[in-house]
Amino acid sequence: VVDEERTERMRAVVADDAESSEREHGDDRELLGAEGYQTIDGFPCYRTVDGTIQTMMDIAVAHPHLATIEKIGESHQKRDIFVLKLTDKSSPAEKAPLFITAGIHAREYAPPELAIRFAEHLVENYGVSADIDGILAHTEIAITAVSNPDGRIIAQNFRNLWWRKNANEENECKEERGNYGVDLNRNFNFMWGGAGASTDPCGASYRGASAGSESETAAIMKYSESIFPPEQRKGNPVKDVDAPYDELTSKGMYVDVHSFGEDIIFPWGHKDKKAGNFQAYQAISHKLCSINGHLPSGSGGYRFLGTVSGDTLDYHYGELGVCSILFELGTEFYQNCDDFENKILPDNLKALLYASKLVHRPYELAKGPDVTRLTVPDATAASSSTVEVKARVSDREMTQLPNNSDDLPPETLSTGNQRIVSVKLFVGGHPYDPSPPEPLDMSPAGGVGGEASFASHTVDAALTLDVSDLTGMGPQIMVCAVGTDAMGFDGPVSCEYLTIAPRTTAAASPPPPAVDEGSAAQQQTTPASAGKPQSTTTATTPESPTITTSLQQTPTPAAATPQSTTTKATTTVTQNDIGGGVQTCSDQSIEGDCNEMAGCKWKKDKCQDVCAGKNKRDKCHKVGGCAWDGKSKICLRSPP
Ligand SMILES: [Zn+2]
Repeated sequence: VVDEERTERMRAVVADDAESSEREHGDDRELLGAEGYQTIDGFPCYRTVDGTIQTMMDIAVAHPHLATIEKIGESHQKRDIFVLKLTDKSSPAEKAPLFITAGIHAREYAPPELAIRFAEHLVENYGVSADIDGILAHTEIAITAVSNPDGRIIAQNFRNLWWRKNANEENECKEERGNYGVDLNRNFNFMWGGAGASTDPCGASYRGASAGSESETAAIMKYSESIFPPEQRKGNPVKDVDAPYDELTSKGMYVDVHSFGEDIIFPWGHKDKKAGNFQAYQAISHKLCSINGHLPSGSGGYRFLGTVSGDTLDYHYGELGVCSILFELGTEFYQNCDDFENKILPDNLKALLYASKLVHRPYELAKGPDVTRLTVPDATAASSSTVEVKARVSDREMTQLPNNSDDLPPETLSTGNQRIVSVKLFVGGHPYDPSPPEPLDMSPAGGVGGEASFASHTVDAALTLDVSDLTGMGPQIMVCAVGTDAMGFDGPVSCEYLTIAPRTTAAASPPPPAVDEGSAAQQQTTPASAGKPQSTTTATTPESPTITTSLQQTPTPAAATPQSTTTKATTTVTQNDIGGGVQTCSDQSIEGDCNEMAGCKWKKDKCQDVCAGKNKRDKCHKVGGCAWDGKSKICLRSPP
């Protein structure tokens, strides 16, 4: 959104500085910032175009199981435009697309950096955060951190120009340095040429020669068309512009990141009239704002910021039928690094993670209740026989806006205040898995299971799990909670890892019915398989510290007790036995050796067993180097 007054001020600055617009810093392009990449002079928190693209490539090289880099087009000056695609490639689940673009406006320093930090946050916390593992297993996140590289290079080197547009100099403004180029956020191919865009080639919001005329715009449109489901587009999107999209089946999200204004903006831009899916957008924007402290802004008198046409949101929502949201970060174009690192970054990483959880059914999930807290106790002590999982679920908390929301209409958020009717817990998997665990009902905390019902829009729920029911599911068990409100809306999924100590009874204990798979009931556990681990206990040294570490990712004092040490050694022997007598993953301290071992992968500076957490036959088989042991129902490392 163009602030006309500010634009005029910028024009004055450009005119003043036109003759002395040499690069603002010297020729030293080797400057490395805190992140180890080239950063913008004077702003060590913001990577340059080269630094950002280098980071995207480094992520793709370092995390081949998660990341892919793809060229989607070229800028006007023939610079490559890339997307970084992030998803758990080993997950067999059907994935919904999330496309994040940043840097469409050149002078907005923070957005490209937020986008690349989000990518780093996802890959660095994979395998550690159950929430992020759940997102990456079920979502394909595509990030174009530098959407306008030509303009960005001008903006990072000549701050006095306040460069906004691309660098297309093929118009009448080419002699007026600082004013040429096309506003890419007025050049998209939906309602192009209407009000809220300039026809003046020297204007800050110049719409371009024709819809989609710019190569940067064309690259983004072509990529979006390729990833978002064609079946949810309208036959005649202009004529049927006011018709709502089907909220039950709509999936995928588009997020465009700009600065500044501290807004969460939703369609329309081309007119101040409510969009067909207004109520859902109201819910989405309120929830994102409750996280990052922004204010919602949309058409239909909902703090509408001014008419624009040919913009990213209207194109993705109107033309492609995709739920589309725009973040306006911070309070200035060249936001200082203290503000970025301490406020904008942490607040908006959380908001982007929340958006990522909506992608499967954005319009529906935002209307449902949120799991605002999920607590699983540390159950690694061998003496734990039960664990109590607790959840706070609210249909209201995240609809509440910050105090400075006076200029919003006093309209109530009709989907955000219902009683909670159920809280489901999924143990050993995610509800979006191809074969999810059977959900368990959580009870009102303090009540007796199954007897009391939830009475409020905000509730505490609890469920006690028997640890003996969890054996055979690996040392790290995914636990996910989902709330449902009285209108029947399910909310987004929240997950945590439950870590338990391995048990001697692992092979003998039948799996709990709730997490059983269809064919498991046919398989009887034989006495032979139950006795096998016990009989070979003496084959290893129980005190071996290496073995202890291999089976317990978070060592606790309890690990030193004789009972738990024996337990660990027993299980290790089972693995060695079936694995052909090879070493455990954690015996490897060299990354290359680790990755060569079946079922082992180097993660977080450790050699980790990637089979251990897979508690279903189909999941186990999807992972290279793992094999399902049908008798003990454990996924084991299986060297070829
Ligand atoms: Zn912008």
